[in-house]
Amino acid sequence: MSQQEFYLDSNATTVVLPPIAEAVMSALTQEFGNPSSSHMTGIRAKARMERTRGLARKVMGAERGRVIFTSGATEGIQTAVISSLQAAKSRPMPEKPVLLYGATEHKAVPETLKHWARLFDIPAEVRAIPVDTRGRLDMEFIAEHVGRALMICTMAVNNETGCYQDLSALERAIRDHNPNVPWMVDCVQALGKLPMALSETTIDYAPFSGHKLYAPKGIGWLYVREGAEFTPVIAGGGQESGLRSGTENGAGIAALETLFTLMLDTDGTFASQQTLLRYRQTLADTLTRVFPELVFNQDHACSVPTTLNFSVPGFSSKELMDLFDAAGIRVSSGSACSSKVTRSFVLDAMGLPAWQSESAIRLSFGPAMTEAELQAVCARIDTAVAALSTSCLLENERDAEKFGLKGLIQFKAGSSCCWLYVDPDTDQCVVIDPVDSLNERLERLIRCQDLVPMAIVDTHGHADHVSSGVALRESLSDRIPEALMAVDALGWPNACGSRRTLSDGQVMPALELGNSVLVRAPQPGHTDDSVAFFISRHGRSTLLGEDIDFAFCGDTILPGTLGRTNFSNSDPLAMFHSLVQLGVWLTPDTLICPCHDYHHQFATSLAAESREQGLLASVLSGRIGEQAFVQAKADLDSNLCDDPGSELMCGATTPSQADQVEELTPAELRQWQTEQRRLSVVDIREPHEFALSPTPQSENVPLSRLVDFIGQQRYRLDTDPVVLICRSGSRSLLACQSLRRLGVSNIVHVAGGHALS
Ligand code: PLP
Repeated sequence: MSQQEFYLDSNATTVVLPPIAEAVMSALTQEFGNPSSSHMTGIRAKARMERTRGLARKVMGAERGRVIFTSGATEGIQTAVISSLQAAKSRPMPEKPVLLYGATEHKAVPETLKHWARLFDIPAEVRAIPVDTRGRLDMEFIAEHVGRALMICTMAVNNETGCYQDLSALERAIRDHNPNVPWMVDCVQALGKLPMALSETTIDYAPFSGHKLYAPKGIGWLYVREGAEFTPVIAGGGQESGLRSGTENGAGIAALETLFTLMLDTDGTFASQQTLLRYRQTLADTLTRVFPELVFNQDHACSVPTTLNFSVPGFSSKELMDLFDAAGIRVSSGSACSSKVTRSFVLDAMGLPAWQSESAIRLSFGPAMTEAELQAVCARIDTAVAALSTSCLLENERDAEKFGLKGLIQFKAGSSCCWLYVDPDTDQCVVIDPVDSLNERLERLIRCQDLVPMAIVDTHGHADHVSSGVALRESLSDRIPEALMAVDALGWPNACGSRRTLSDGQVMPALELGNSVLVRAPQPGHTDDSVAFFISRHGRSTLLGEDIDFAFCGDTILPGTLGRTNFSNSDPLAMFHSLVQLGVWLTPDTLICPCHDYHHQFATSLAAESREQGLLASVLSGRIGEQAFVQAKADLDSNLCDDPGSELMCGATTPSQADQVEELTPAELRQWQTEQRRLSVVDIREPHEFALSPTPQSENVPLSRLVDFIGQQRYRLDTDPVVLICRSGSRSLLACQSLRRLGVSNIVHVAGGHALS
């Protein structure tokens, strides 16, 4: 059964409303004439175009000036910029000319300014006008700089926060200091959300876009003030009075005609401002009830009611997006996502704290929203957030459903990894390499799952972050057995009296965790205090390599590299011996859980690293001696980037050549299933996402449990193919690459994931 969709991303684009779609269909099939044709079909098309132009004037409050149909706002922006720069070229250049734009402007604006200034060879500095914490433009800055501006670009309403500008105050700040500077106001997000009276202003150019308000993509228009400079961007057949050539988009214009009619009629299709304000209040109340710590990244007093932008402490944008998407609620992360940096330049420009920028979610709706839709959305938000209790991610009055957390769980903060291991037969657990920003989440999980932390340990004193073990131990002191509270510098309990013998006969200290055991072994090199931890589910007194389920080697072996050995407390010679020693204690395939995971490789093994790292392979095979290793290691470390805060502090690494991953289309997966092939489908979304939209006949292994899955199910991965699936295909691709890197080949993923299923 397909899930109901709640579309709350109207600032990105909107659905085409049924009467508008009907008008488009009629224009495509009945009234399809070319307005330039002189026969009756053409005359009708031209009449509709002029009717629509007239309606546009009413909607914008522009009795005077030009209305030129375009393909959308980006084209309108090009036209305004080219017209202004062309005019600037024909006048004397002021000293130190600038092109001003609001710091929170849509990227189309600064990029267009830079592009055309370069092509026109105009020596102007493209300069951002700062905004305050609400997103309002700095009028003093404008007053100071606009005198030497060749153009100034501002926006009526911001697309991420809904913040609107005080256009009268802005006009005064501009015109008092430069009466003639061309002024563009991007009105894309204002249409249908704010009353407009463009003819009463000195705005020179105002671009609009149809698809932000229920018309199709590919149609927009540009308002140009009477007397403003104009240079056509598209020359040709002379349409639009020669201002914009090319046969007009009749279907798009028909859509606008119906849209404008709906806007001007008060037939109830579009809600009043008062109703929209009430909708916003209801949504804001729902969100703050389900996320009591939620913070709004906007001032509701100066933002349009149809945009809500918020952050929730402890959750990244990506996590909230995944949650809402699984619940069928389409929102936007309000930030430009790349693999590493996920933050909003708009919120950064407003000077909001980094966490708010990294966690921002934008929820936007249009004026056609109805009360019934609003109530359904609020109910769905409740359902979505309730599902978070499945993962113990939110404290909540409802009894968190225990999901029996067992085995190994990986937590990540940036590239830093922290590991939680829970003995499968008891509630005893250990935290390895805690990270400050994850402490709250870990504590919540440990409490919610009623776990007993036996130790919180570090593999070494970290150079790039302070261990948060002390703080975590403190906050969990009521759960840690009293006898284990006294610890050494790396968190190892002083009272730990057990021992285990490793494969070469060396005896190491061990901590019993129910039926599992945590063994500590020295591993100097990266730092002189570095240790390795081994976890075994077997109670044997001697642990051979195959008895070790997981090895935690800190920064000694990272996916793609060896840890750096050029700190004052490093010793490359000691690292050589530590590596040789690991080769004796572990098997080539023992899962090594790193302290850093720069390229989403999750875990590694000596075999996987030896395939990529010639130096390690030489050490393990005995082909290289101590001195040659020390020299080669110094060469490797000379590539390190030592910028403060650099992710590569602990070892230079480049992403490995991703193996060719086998992909299935959703249709192929269905085919495989109907053919009853032997395969297992593994949904790798987080448990709360899975709970909201389970995949039939699949099991759930979230990415945070991938390493545990590999450890437990390796045998299975050698027989029938395992098909990984997630929301969009990107997490399943990463997981597939990681598994293939570890030598598992019988694995495929579904390209496009649930989105295309
Ligand atoms: N300006 C703003 C504020 C926008 O939100 C957008 C669209 O995201 C644009 C300009 C670009 O509009 P179009 O897609 O019509 O080119």
